[in-house]
This record gives sequence, structure tokens and C-alpha cells, in this order.
Amino acid sequence: MLPPPVLQSEAESRPELDYRYKPCPIHGKPIDATGDHAAACPTTRGAIYRVHNRIRNYLGREAQRLQLDTQVEPQTASLLLQQFSPEQCRAMFPKNSTRNTRSHAKLVADALDEIPHLPAEQRDAATRKLTKLIEQTPANETGLRIDLAIGDAWIDVGVTHPTKQSTRDKTLRFLTAEAHSPQNELETPPVADYGKKKHDKYQPLINRARLQKQQRKRKTEPTFYAAIFSHLGEFSTQALRLIESLALRTRTLTQAGCQITHTQIPTRASAEHRNQLKDAIVATLVEGYGHVLEAMDCTAAA
Ligand SMILES: [Zn+2]
Repeated sequence: MLPPPVLQSEAESRPELDYRYKPCPIHGKPIDATGDHAAACPTTRGAIYRVHNRIRNYLGREAQRLQLDTQVEPQTASLLLQQFSPEQCRAMFPKNSTRNTRSHAKLVADALDEIPHLPAEQRDAATRKLTKLIEQTPANETGLRIDLAIGDAWIDVGVTHPTKQSTRDKTLRFLTAEAHSPQNELETPPVADYGKKKHDKYQPLINRARLQKQQRKRKTEPTFYAAIFSHLGEFSTQALRLIESLALRTRTLTQAGCQITHTQIPTRASAEHRNQLKDAIVATLVEGYGHVLEAMDCTAAA
């Protein structure tokens, strides 16, 4: 696949690389044979987003085909059953979690929770304070949005580049240990870490839904899935669980007489659909990574 072909006139070299490389037109860094720079450079961001969006849309379409209540990029206010306005949600669930945004979000959430329990004479002042707090939310704050809601499954899709230099040693150590004593459920460290990051990011939203369940404002509690995929074709455990739940749905619908795949035998239909889902995602990952390399002009026959 790589290194990319370079004309001698534009080639540069570094002692640590055994090949001549073309420098990135933006950063001047080597367009390296491992695709590290391609995966990190803003030049390829559009191509990376497209892989993510195609997987998200594909899972959404398949869930719809299975007659499941599906929303792609649902409004957070609608996920929380309109208990809060879009403006309140934007203030309570900031997209970029920093100490500042978290403390601001907590102030807003606490005020929203407290106001209904205040004595009547204190409510107006508290509401004015809350309005002010909400107005202080930065204009560029878009608020947290999940990628996909399929019934009570709240899903965020992530695509990662696990061969990047910063994680390569960790991944190799993990795989070596795995070869010595195989585990049942496994994720390489970059996939596991990305999944954990997604869980941390969406935790405030999940906690709020949990509280709604406790307060009997909603019937069921959502389950969050970090559906992480690597450009090498690795699926996170939760991505596999999500696929499994779709395959199970195929089985149920086939049992009920619906035509989902080519067969009317329920167990075969679920097996077939499971494979289709995995194959389509892997094909999207491979093609998408090809586009990432192409965007960086890494395409090569070598
Ligand atoms: Zn670059």
C-alpha cells in the first residue's frame, strides 16, 4: 500500500525512515508509510467523517428496515422526552467537556432541579438566575448529540486508527499477551480507550435519563453503546452486541413471517443478517480508509 510514490525532485529523507517521502503540504511532516500522518492531518478530516457518517446511516437504515423506532442524530431534547428545552439541553450537556463547561453545566442542571422545589416567593429570582446562566452558554456550543437512537439503545459511532505511533507499542504488547492467553471478549487498547472516552462523554446524558426513570418520567432506561470500529476492521464489544441485537430482531421478524433476508428459516435469517451487517461495515471501513489515504495523496501501487 505505502509508502507513497514520490518524485526524486520533491522527495525528502529522515534518518529514522528507510524510504524517501513526500512532505505534507500543510505541516511538512512525512507522509509516512504507516498512514499515521494521513490519519491525523486535517486534510483528511472530511474523509474520516464520511466513514463515520456512512456507518451511522447504514446502521440507522438497517434498524428502520427491522421496523425499530430509529432516529439518526436525534435532538437531545427529544431524547429526554422534552423535559428540557433545546437551549437548556445545550447548556446542560456541553459537547466539549472541560472543567469550565462541566461546572457551568452542573450549575444549570442543579438550578433546573431545584426550582420546582423552592418556596413560591423564591422561584422568580431563581428562574431569572437560571435564564442568565443559560444565556452565558457560549454561542458556539452545539451541545452533545448522540449519533443514533434505536429504541432504547443510544449509540455513538467512532472510527479509530489503532496503528498510530502513540498507541502502537501498547497494542503490540496487548496482542502478544493475548496470543499467550486468549480472552473471550477483547478489544485492543485504542478501541477500548475510545469506547471509554465515549462513555465518559455521554455519561451526564445517560445519568439524566436514569434519573428520569427513577422519577417515573420515562418507562425504560436507555443503554448506551460505544460502537467503535478500527480502520483495520476491529469491532468494539458493544458494536458486536448491537449487531447481535439487530440479528436477533431479524430472527423474531422472520418467525413472524416477515421477509428480511433471502431465507424464511429464522435462525438462518439471523445468521445471514449478522454477516451482512459485519461485511458491509468492514467494506465501508476499508473503502473509507482508502479515501483517507487518497485525500492525503498517499495512494501508491508499492
Ligand atoms: Zn499534514
